[in-house]
Amino acid sequence: MSVYAPPIQRLVTELSKLPGVGSRTAQRLAFHILRAPVEDAEGLAQAIRDVKERITLCEVCANLAEGPRCRICEDERRDGTVICVVEEPSDVIALERTHEYRGRYHVLGGALSPIDGIDAEDLKIAELFRRVEDPASTIREIVLATNPTTTGEATALHIAEALRERAPGLAVTRLASGLPVGADLEYADEVTLGRAFAGRRAL
Ligand SMILES: [Zn+2]
Repeated sequence: MSVYAPPIQRLVTELSKLPGVGSRTAQRLAFHILRAPVEDAEGLAQAIRDVKERITLCEVCANLAEGPRCRICEDERRDGTVICVVEEPSDVIALERTHEYRGRYHVLGGALSPIDGIDAEDLKIAELFRRVEDPASTIREIVLATNPTTTGEATALHIAEALRERAPGLAVTRLASGLPVGADLEYADEVTLGRAFAGRRAL
């Protein structure tokens, strides 16, 4: 039996599902919310509801979008000849912070990991091939910017091999080394990530 009234226990339980939040932190957050002004608590609840209701995946690149297309796909000034392939929407934000890149993106939604049951069909890989093979496509280069981890490397190789068959004329590049091996892109500092981008090499 919980020592808390059921509504409090429910909040603690929900908060403890968040990544990096243990039961003690969940309790602390729950009591913080209880003490907070009603407007603040409502604001938090509404913000959570809004992202779930209004944010979808971009129909072109699978980045987060409010509406059918994301801001980058809607931006006519972006270079449509280069597509940077990343694992997660947070990687798009990390790369945008470098101001090194003016092309477009493709978000896979993860990396290949047969051990965890994540196969090519679970990622937006077919969608990438469709973009490349579209007769109206102006794409000249695909930059594989998956994480420098085992699964990220395997994903980059898988896509590079498939692209060589499907679109032999396409340049396929990978971010330069210098990124911390085994770490996620989103944790790399802007300078390192920017240099890795500028020094990308052919795969
Ligand atoms: Zn998009």
